[in-house]
Amino acid sequence: MIDIRQIRLTNEQILRYSRHLILPEVGMTGQKKLRAASVLIIGAGGLGCPIALYLTAAGIGKLGLVDFDVVDKTNLQRQVLYGESVVGVPKVEAAKERLQDLNPDVEIETYPVRLTSENALQIMADYDIIVDGTDNFPTRYLTNDAAVLLGKPYIYGSVFRFEGQVSVFLSKPFNGFERGPCYRCLFPSPPPPGTVPTCAEGGVLGVLPGIVGALQAAEAVKLIVGIGEPLIGRLMLIDTLRMDFRTVRIRRKPDCPVCGDNPTIRELIDYEEFCGLRRGEIPESADWFVTPQELKERLERDGNLVLLDVREPEELEISEFPHPYKHIPLDDLLERVNELDQTAEIVVFCRDDQRSRHAAQLLRQVGFGRVKVLKGGINAWAREIDPSVPQY
Ligand code: ZN
Repeated sequence: MIDIRQIRLTNEQILRYSRHLILPEVGMTGQKKLRAASVLIIGAGGLGCPIALYLTAAGIGKLGLVDFDVVDKTNLQRQVLYGESVVGVPKVEAAKERLQDLNPDVEIETYPVRLTSENALQIMADYDIIVDGTDNFPTRYLTNDAAVLLGKPYIYGSVFRFEGQVSVFLSKPFNGFERGPCYRCLFPSPPPPGTVPTCAEGGVLGVLPGIVGALQAAEAVKLIVGIGEPLIGRLMLIDTLRMDFRTVRIRRKPDCPVCGDNPTIRELIDYEEFCGLRRGEIPESADWFVTPQELKERLERDGNLVLLDVREPEELEISEFPHPYKHIPLDDLLERVNELDQTAEIVVFCRDDQRSRHAAQLLRQVGFGRVKVLKGGINAWAREIDPSVPQY
């Protein structure tokens, strides 16, 4: 961190931050600490948006944003940095413009890349604190391990449907706070692939990432200013349906492979493989996929084809495939596999093609040899073939 004795606030800045300055716990010293601090946010989505907005408003010195995605219509339900005018624009670019308007004092650094084992340490090295706004397990383990290796605080948050989690992982003392457990101490191994749906598959209450992200931003401010009791060694569990907030104690594991007494992970590993995303899988090839156009031609030619929709029942109320289809949600597929003819030619589809690829993988593993995936799912069909089908 920069030496705060070198920092002077201008009269304009004093006015801007006056509600912080009159808080005895923050005051001029605290505001200067914020100005001297740098925070890296991994992911500029549902969580990243409120985190970035509040930290920018608070007058953090430097904010880094990592995200390789572009703004999509479905983001607008919760990603409050963006609006209609930036659909299709890279998120970090749109975010920077909005944040710079909110507070031109803050230096915003953007990284329009996917965080990987190759670039994580280098990107994270320039920041005091790492805040997690991602939605997948490989990136989360990668972020945790890199934060531990660099000895930096890692503020964790996650959301799913109506529930969220927040914690602060500290593998080294920071700004007067004692160390605590890391993400791996809490979750030593990732869930089996396909068992935990992403928000794109399972849905998320739009306001939930706002709540969780705001809590993460508050924890970042507390760590920097050095006040209160951050969620070190505690996991906050949020249930917005019951509107229940609980915290449970979590302990550091002396045998943790990354932050334990004798760590075995001393450099970043292959996190996709660690999360089982490549294990035991039949490698996909190009002939697993049909494009909407190919499917259209095929359906016009003959009807000896089974269309299999693996989406959740609620999604069928949003959009339905305009040809006869069989419906088995992905979660029930193995249980109900006997309803399908192993020798039939099957084309699986879902909203895009995440779950259908998973379904094709499962079916091929149990002996279905003629399974294909509709590339881009029912949304691609709507886009390219039949605009009367709504996209979501
Ligand atoms: Zn650990």
